[in-house]
Amino acid sequence: MPSPLDNHTPAEIDPATGHPRREFKARGSFVERCEGCNLPVLNCLCPYKVTAESEAQVWLLTHRIEHYKPTNTGRLIGDVLAQTEVFTWHRTEPDARLLALLADERFAPFVVFPDDQPDYADRVVSIDAVTQAKASGKTPVYILIDGTWRQARRIFRKSPYLDALPVLPLRTERETRYRLRKPASKAHLCTAEVAAELLRQGGDVDAADVLDDYFDAFNASYAASRKYHKIKTPTDAMQRLLARQPTQ
Ligand SMILES: [Zn+2]
Repeated sequence: MPSPLDNHTPAEIDPATGHPRREFKARGSFVERCEGCNLPVLNCLCPYKVTAESEAQVWLLTHRIEHYKPTNTGRLIGDVLAQTEVFTWHRTEPDARLLALLADERFAPFVVFPDDQPDYADRVVSIDAVTQAKASGKTPVYILIDGTWRQARRIFRKSPYLDALPVLPLRTERETRYRLRKPASKAHLCTAEVAAELLRQGGDVDAADVLDDYFDAFNASYAASRKYHKIKTPTDAMQRLLARQPTQ
């Protein structure tokens, strides 16, 4: 019979006590997560995953730390819109694939960013530019910078390949519904909300509706799991997503 200690390599024994060293656990890591959606299994998101079609595309320029945060909402966009591209931002070495896509004439990329600084005022466009791009046969692309506010500013300022692109600020009265991180202001939307709102304003209403519902399902599932609460009756958003599932 192997003793319980056989599971531990010598490196895991605390030399001070001779006992197995306790693993360091990050906050929340005691929760068992689903391999499919990375949410706590208590309220897994997988049953609600549905795809939608959109004319416009979303490309995410993601700060590397953001990839590891289970509360990240940028990843929800790729679940819904299959054409979504995700690039990890590196200050010194831009992603070669991103550079190639930016040079591709089929796309009309817009970098989504507030127009609160005067030095790039000449690059600022409205959502009408997205409609015009569609009319000219191009695929509009919303480039979303996914990170904290500080990280986003840095990425916007330190990425020369973004300097030539039109800047599209999101104009909306919508307030955030995100419950997993405390926003500095209700006007600060999370990444999935920004994408949904841009899609809606740019005419991709169906994709916007699905992404909004999927974000709501994520939000409700995660918030409930944090309180060890099992959602028994699907929310309205969840029910709309279930109704979209292809019948077996
Ligand atoms: Zn899952």
